[in-house]
Amino acid sequence: MKHHWVKGNLPLIATCYICEEECDIEPGLTDWWCCWCQRCVHEACKSALSEICDFGKFKLMIIPPGSLEVINRRSTMRRRLHLRSIIRPNWLDWNPIIVVGNRKAGNNDGDQILSLFRRLLNPAQITDLAERDPVAALEWCRLLGKTPSIILVAGGDGTIAWLLNTINKLQLQSIPSVAIIPLGTGNDLSRVLGWGKEHDSHLDPIEILRQVQTAEKVMLDRWSVIIKPYGGLGFRGSYQTLFMYNYISVGVDAQVTLNFHRTRESRFYLFSHRIFNKMLYLCFGTQQVVGRECKDLDKNLEVYLDGKRAELPSIESIVILNIPSWAAGVDLWKMGEEDNKDLGVQSINDGKLEVVALYSSFQMAQLQIGLSTPYRIGQARTVKIKLLRSCAMQVDGEPWYQLPCEFNITYCNQAAMLMNNNF
Ligand SMILES: [Zn+2]
Ligand SMILES: [Zn+2]
Repeated sequence: MKHHWVKGNLPLIATCYICEEECDIEPGLTDWWCCWCQRCVHEACKSALSEICDFGKFKLMIIPPGSLEVINRRSTMRRRLHLRSIIRPNWLDWNPIIVVGNRKAGNNDGDQILSLFRRLLNPAQITDLAERDPVAALEWCRLLGKTPSIILVAGGDGTIAWLLNTINKLQLQSIPSVAIIPLGTGNDLSRVLGWGKEHDSHLDPIEILRQVQTAEKVMLDRWSVIIKPYGGLGFRGSYQTLFMYNYISVGVDAQVTLNFHRTRESRFYLFSHRIFNKMLYLCFGTQQVVGRECKDLDKNLEVYLDGKRAELPSIESIVILNIPSWAAGVDLWKMGEEDNKDLGVQSINDGKLEVVALYSSFQMAQLQIGLSTPYRIGQARTVKIKLLRSCAMQVDGEPWYQLPCEFNITYCNQAAMLMNNNF
């Protein structure tokens, strides 16, 4: 394939591939840029470069234009790609990447990210969740058959969980590995996997692709949560099944998240900047009202680890962890080490959960600044909770108000993630 030259609109700091002098310094659209290999050349130097394009540094992540068989549907109002098949290029270790994000997420950070990657890759490799659901993004993975692929998702913990659930549901021949650009409030999974605690607005997409290229594949336990609501006589209604990757909690911690979500949806919410996120956890944590709602939770809740009932002190929250990061970066399990050293270390893929309790909402605020330690209940392969009164609950940062119920958390399978070792 020949280079695909675009006149002008060069990257910010562009040097000529031939003479190594700076490009694009004269006004107007003068120099050239190839949108596949990303090389820049001066008008005068262009003839010195070979005509054939090698797709540059990220060749193995690119889906070359010749590989796409698209169904042409001109009649549709919106120009969308309808993929028929992908013809595998003759490249050893081809590992194409799909970038998934919502352009409306994070004060338009999402829009910026998607645009940056559209320049570096085949634009068809970018899926905007504001227009299409994750099934559309995963259509790629289905067409790729046994070819391994990478999904780079720009979003918060909720978006990542949504994507991982969809991957699980589709039962693909080759499970794609997932890398993250953090765009949420807590970004707990992103922190654990080395993708950072928050979005960097000076993000360099080339640097991200380089990090994805050298990232290491790690497995992450996926847990099923089956919620059975209590009625007048035993169970009633239908069971609800959810999946959990980060943590699940009942009590003050979920109540804080719920209040936080309600505030965010309110028009009085001014703190849209991510710096305030940690502060909001602190402020909400110290509010009196939170404590009252969850007071004496231990008298209305039973916890069973591997079928054995656990003794509880006077607490206001139970947190069940899969990963070592909770409420925007607090490593709860490790923090509880001092008081109870007999228990094992935490791992994201050992088929075990870590269960801790929090005494109060005030303690939640203290934990954010390392002034307190949580109460370690134990580790288990299955956890059952009997919740005897209504209380706030959350799974991976998505809160709701739960009526009395019993819920069981059991091991489901594993998701494939990429761990960034460049942080
Ligand atoms: Zn080129
Ligand atoms: Zn030059």
